[in-house]
Amino acid sequence: MTENNLINGQWVGSDSGATFEVHNPATGRVVGRVPDAGAAEARRAVDAAWNASSAWAGRPAIERAQMLQALSARLAEDREDLARLLTDEQGKPLAEARAEIDYARSFFEVSAQASALIRDETPSVPGKKIRVHRRPIGVAAAITPWNFPIAMLAKKMAPAMAVGCTQVLKPAEQTPLSAIALLERAVASGVPAGVVNLVTGDPAAIGAAWLEDSRVRKFSFTGSTEVGRILMRGAATNLPRLSLELGGHAPMIVFEDAAVDRAVEIAMAAKFRNGGQTCICPNRFLIHRSLHDDFVSKLANRSAALTSGHGHDPEVVLGPMIDDAAIEKVEAHVADAVEKGATVVTGGRRRRVEGFQDRFFEPTVLTGCTSHMRCWREETFGPVCPVRIFDDQAEALALANDSDFGLASYVVTNDEERIRRLGDELRTGIIGVNDPGPAVAGVPFGGVKHSGFGREGGRWGLEEYLELVTVSAIDLASR
Ligand code: NAP
Repeated sequence: MTENNLINGQWVGSDSGATFEVHNPATGRVVGRVPDAGAAEARRAVDAAWNASSAWAGRPAIERAQMLQALSARLAEDREDLARLLTDEQGKPLAEARAEIDYARSFFEVSAQASALIRDETPSVPGKKIRVHRRPIGVAAAITPWNFPIAMLAKKMAPAMAVGCTQVLKPAEQTPLSAIALLERAVASGVPAGVVNLVTGDPAAIGAAWLEDSRVRKFSFTGSTEVGRILMRGAATNLPRLSLELGGHAPMIVFEDAAVDRAVEIAMAAKFRNGGQTCICPNRFLIHRSLHDDFVSKLANRSAALTSGHGHDPEVVLGPMIDDAAIEKVEAHVADAVEKGATVVTGGRRRRVEGFQDRFFEPTVLTGCTSHMRCWREETFGPVCPVRIFDDQAEALALANDSDFGLASYVVTNDEERIRRLGDELRTGIIGVNDPGPAVAGVPFGGVKHSGFGREGGRWGLEEYLELVTVSAIDLASR
């Protein structure tokens, strides 16, 4: 039996003893085995979180903050081991895996600091003494995806722990080992039994068990819009507060005043992280007509030169797609675009990397893209850059906003007036202006429209795990 689910401070297996294998997406080799748990184990995890909740909420905030800082320090100490494990099961290059550990740590640091700022408020109302109190919402459930397996969990654990919530967590089936490694560090940092609990296994059964349990008062999910909808429907009975961090389909607009070399630099940095398997990476490139040819030729040259392979090789910039379904989707999107009239400037096919699985895709630039193409309407989640020309700002903004998704967008311009108006004009939760990395721990991160709702990061992330209680008192002595 594999005993690496965490329930009430104990490392346990599934009730049946069943396990499932975790594979390295580059080599196909088995890198681990984890419990294949279901509803019964998920319910026991809630029991543990429920039983631990009063004591955890009652602890001084400073003590919880110190524990978060201890966990961050431990992650720093074990950074190299964690990064190697992350690369083994997820495939991203080691440099990106290290950056993910640092990003995860920043959530523990920022949440520890932000928790010191949570205070009651006393709005002034004539004849009454009002106190607006913030209390932890209670047991919080979280389900996370495979593309940033440590950071996505950290984004949910850090604010919940900081404000005094206990948690039940389920990582993605492709990447449970990184999640387990994070929880091991939490236990080693002194986080008490029951405060964080982790179950791996049947996603529908585990998710349903948590939605059906009225003790779970918060449900935070990061993943596809499709699963987000299932969870939202499931939440209708017990009405836990929801945060849904769902799919993205970011546009990048390069305006006529941009320097092409700088625009290409930004595109490369934002697009190819994690092989394009990033919810905020640009998926639609809108380029002003005057810059289009130069931009495309430079982007194609730079993209074609990216090296693919096993993430442990320091030369490698592009790892494998996570699984066969992922590479098949990328292939299908390119084929659909070509059939509908797009031109492949570079890439467009699988790339054979000697000695490894057939999971690598060539960095691809497509021109002449239109709204009818799947790559223009759906998230491709791969190293594909669909490009389209625009002539004026109104057209660019209309095309950028013509999507059901609204997570991130990118703009390359130096026009101050244009930048000032973007917050009202672009319908996304995050806007990077000349900035390929707008996601940092101290600021709100989240989407609009079908990209979901709720925010992670900074004090805004903590608010998601707090409920407001208004205490309205009339002073009898003064009557
Ligand atoms: P996914 O298929 O939705 O899976 C995400 C998580 O949901 C996994 O843990 C999965 O478990 C679980 N799950 C699947 N079916 C479920 C069900 N019926 N009930 C409860 N849980 C269920 O998404 P993914 O393919 O892993 O991740 C890629 C997607 O995540 C992309 O759309 C990407 O844009 C999005 N994403 C969004 C953000 C953001 O912040 N907005 C960040 C990162 C990724 P199993 O793995 O066991 O199936």
